[in-house]
Amino acid sequence: CGITGYIGAREAVSTALNNLKRLEYRGYDSAGIAYLSSQGLEVVRAEGRIVNLEKLLSQVPAQASAAIAHTRWATHGRPCETNAHPHTDCKKRLAVVHNGIIENYVELRQQLLAQGHVFASETDTETLAHLIEANLPSTTASQKEIARAIRAALSRVRGSYAIAVICTDTPQALYVARQDSPLIIGLGHEEKLIASDITALLQHTRHMVPLEDGDFAVITPQRVIITDRQGSVQERAVLHVDWDD
Ligand code: GLU
Repeated sequence: CGITGYIGAREAVSTALNNLKRLEYRGYDSAGIAYLSSQGLEVVRAEGRIVNLEKLLSQVPAQASAAIAHTRWATHGRPCETNAHPHTDCKKRLAVVHNGIIENYVELRQQLLAQGHVFASETDTETLAHLIEANLPSTTASQKEIARAIRAALSRVRGSYAIAVICTDTPQALYVARQDSPLIIGLGHEEKLIASDITALLQHTRHMVPLEDGDFAVITPQRVIITDRQGSVQERAVLHVDWDD
């Protein structure tokens, strides 16, 4: 239902969480966050309100430079903690948040199960995490290799999505893509934000890049590289938002 994310020098978990609260008005059944800390990939999720997630996070003081967060409105798989996003691959190398519906997930899930992937949830979204994993090299991947793996996974997906991905191999990058579900990149000095809705970003920046259908982006604190479905680099217009917060 809602996505936020952050990469930069600020504490990423509290920044992404505060921005997620601005999407509460949209309604949701569970919420979760994934971040990259010195321990690797951490995922915290809770059924119900964002305050439940906040309570869990207050017990494990998080320090991270990259985070992705999600409020879920269940479409596939009942509302519960294990079906809440983010979802991960088997090795917990990457985490995915997703708004939308993967229409061919049953078929994809069966293929992945046959290849030995083990699923932890009933969602359509988890197939994406495993599909990306299946396309990653076994050794530590570069940003380019991860981008290639995500794009290869998306090329097999039918449906609608705004997604954000983080991977332990590249703690300095967020990966996002959109098809029939909104996703906006907020530009800051040495920091970048993402959200499914402009209102989640207004307190941080007025400079935003709304992605177009078929767009994929690699985001680091310093830069954003957007490519279209064919893989060619695109300059998307920067929107200067001057509404009141
Ligand atoms: N289809 C996904 C699920 O049911 C995402 C739902 C959403 O957009 O919140 O988990």
